[in-house]
Amino acid sequence: SPAGAVSRNPASGALIANYPFHTAAEVEQLLGANAAAQRQWRDTPIAERVSAYRRLAALLRENSERLATLMTSEMGKTLAAARAEVEKCAGSLEWLVAHGPALLADEPVPVEGGDQVFVSYLPIGTVLAVMPWNFPLWQVIRAAGPIMLSGNGFVLKHAPNVMGAAFALQELYEAAGFPRGLFASLNADNDTVARVIGDPRIAAVTLTGSARAGAAIAALAGRALKKSLLELGGSDAFIVLADANIDLAVKAAVHARFQNAGQVCLAAKRFIVERPVLEEFTRKFVAAARQVTVGDPLDPATTMGPMARADLLEELHGQVQRTIAAGATLLLGGEKLPGAGNFYAPTVLAGVVPGMAAFDEETFGPVAAIKAADDVEHAIALANTSDYGLGGALWTGDTVQAQRIARRLETGGVFVNGFSLTDPRIPTGGVKKSGYGRELSHFGLREFTNAQAVWVK
Ligand code: NDP
Repeated sequence: SPAGAVSRNPASGALIANYPFHTAAEVEQLLGANAAAQRQWRDTPIAERVSAYRRLAALLRENSERLATLMTSEMGKTLAAARAEVEKCAGSLEWLVAHGPALLADEPVPVEGGDQVFVSYLPIGTVLAVMPWNFPLWQVIRAAGPIMLSGNGFVLKHAPNVMGAAFALQELYEAAGFPRGLFASLNADNDTVARVIGDPRIAAVTLTGSARAGAAIAALAGRALKKSLLELGGSDAFIVLADANIDLAVKAAVHARFQNAGQVCLAAKRFIVERPVLEEFTRKFVAAARQVTVGDPLDPATTMGPMARADLLEELHGQVQRTIAAGATLLLGGEKLPGAGNFYAPTVLAGVVPGMAAFDEETFGPVAAIKAADDVEHAIALANTSDYGLGGALWTGDTVQAQRIARRLETGGVFVNGFSLTDPRIPTGGVKKSGYGRELSHFGLREFTNAQAVWVK
């Protein structure tokens, strides 16, 4: 059979589909049609563009069951989480309908004399988006929503295991009345993607995924002198200070770590707990983690499904074993569950210090690493002891002090008495090896625009 994108149901291992890669002629056709559609879209008034957004939001909701079931079968998230993801996409598009036009409107610049000066946010062309499988719809909409509203085109290179979601989304864009081909799903291997990045019809690249993939894509974009945005991994700290409400912190911590089977860039990964509450937090966290119900993601009683791919489970298990070998204590889990499917037990490791895999590396699965902090300063230092800098949580009774601490955390986001999340109203993105650039909010809307200065004398 021809080379293609293979999708397996992670709960059973059963083959769902093998989508043959686009041929060279199909890639050419796709890029040509996309460029033509972008010229049409660029000249479409923004009031009409937002109408298409409104219809797309409605179509997502109408198709929620079908889309949610598709995501669950392709990558294993629970059906409830998949439904919530569809709703998040629809709500985010509606936020853009309500606020996008004002945020993209010409911005007057006051100058001396009678000159008229303003900044226009113009489209730059088509953005190629290389996307991961963990939120098959949301990762795409979070990029495409803001990027396309200014008049850009969008070519999606989705992860091979979620190509069904990629094609379903393309159909919905067309059904919503977007110019045909403006949102195009490209099914291609990495060599073809490299060639497409160099194609003059591609203006810029955005990627969500691993640091390895980000470095490869950014190098290709740099060689072609094209802008790139990277939203890479994270190893978010979840800091619990001695004055925190421990019961609420535990509840948030368990959700923040085990949601989506731990496969979230913004998931809490390193739990940094002040010594006076270390025993209580650890005991309650382990008890709550024990309550996570692992099983068939279609079963409403399940709170955690399988990991998306067998190789990712093996990689995670290796990290757990290396961390234990280096001296950490296994408090819960630490093993693959028996039977078919990529099910990993909710896992808690204590005594995880810098130098151990679960502290230094991103753990992209249901593995929590707990580390004691001597005091607030130590907690801040530990949180910043990471190559990554995506988000982070800080639990404390003193929200005034929390705001001072937040400024010292080297991350793109800080969530006080909460957990890292994305929201259309706030920027998301990272520092250090978590990448650069921002998605969502007015930052995301303007990231891939030409901020054109116009000075009329
Ligand atoms: P990857 O980063 O390899 O995959 C993400 C996307 O990038 C996929 O579409 C992939 O396509 C593509 N990609 C990767 N390398 C290249 C390349 N050289 N040229 C073009 N496209 C490329 O992630 P994995 O799925 O392998 O997961 C590995 C790890 O990455 C995880 O364990 C986690 O640490 C991190 N990750 C982080 C995510 C986040 O949300 N920040 C999401 C997913 C993973 P293809 O598979 O065809 O190469």
